[in-house]
Amino acid sequence: MTSRVSHLSVVYSPEMLADAGESVSPSTRKPGLVAEALRARDWPVHFLPPEPMTLEALYRVHDPAFVDSILSLGRPNGFGNTSETVARSLRHTCGAFHTGAKLALSAGISASLTSGFHHASTARARGFCTFNGLMASAALLLDGGSARRVAILDCDFHYGDGTTAIIDTMRLQDEVLNVSLGANFGRASSSTAYLEAVRQACVEIESFTPDIVFYQAGVDSHIDDPLGGLLTSDELRTRDEIVFGWVRRIGMPLTWNLAGGYQVEADGSIPKVVNLHMNTFEVALRSLGLLVPPPA
Ligand SMILES: [Zn+2]
Repeated sequence: MTSRVSHLSVVYSPEMLADAGESVSPSTRKPGLVAEALRARDWPVHFLPPEPMTLEALYRVHDPAFVDSILSLGRPNGFGNTSETVARSLRHTCGAFHTGAKLALSAGISASLTSGFHHASTARARGFCTFNGLMASAALLLDGGSARRVAILDCDFHYGDGTTAIIDTMRLQDEVLNVSLGANFGRASSSTAYLEAVRQACVEIESFTPDIVFYQAGVDSHIDDPLGGLLTSDELRTRDEIVFGWVRRIGMPLTWNLAGGYQVEADGSIPKVVNLHMNTFEVALRSLGLLVPPPA
């Protein structure tokens, strides 16, 4: 899928926003702030609203009783509270990721302004993650025959343990590969080793021969992130250049999302997180030939 594209499709609607109360994670308001920053730039980006994910699709990867109790506020969400707005947003955020996946299969590349998936397992919400939109989307693609294999390249700083747990529970090891760099990297690791691991992950995924890659481009891998961190801003750009350059080179469909990022200012604003996400968009647009390189 190396055909030239004229714009980048980004899945977002205000229904994806929520109020997670006093959580240290800004992720329920982040989609709106990233959309605002994207609109402020003169970039060839088209916004599309998500198709909400069906209950059946959530039941496919989660215990139905767990899904129902989350949605009826009978059990805490991934933020540890029972916010009605979070519950209302979940089918939109999971649906946004899947809408993005379908767009990538047809157009080669897409993004969704989503977070909060990879710690959610079959019947457990934690770590700011309630439902696993990555696995719900993967299961839909596999069930519908749109993909025979799906690879997840998870470059959030943390290990996508919920994703692995669902793969194991559903016995999808031959259909879904979860390469989560958070499984091996802590603060003591070096950024050089991390970037080499990203390159190796691309090789491993390529040999799995997936039909699509889900890329979690978390910016909590930034060195200043209070919950993560080992890459400088330039190294995060290099990470994204490795990934986007690779998929363009081999013609692999890819959809990416925001995932983590926790550099919150004292007033609650998140300009650093938003700027790091903008860097990912810029790298992606350059890889598509949709931005003119700056003068040397
Ligand atoms: Zn994270």
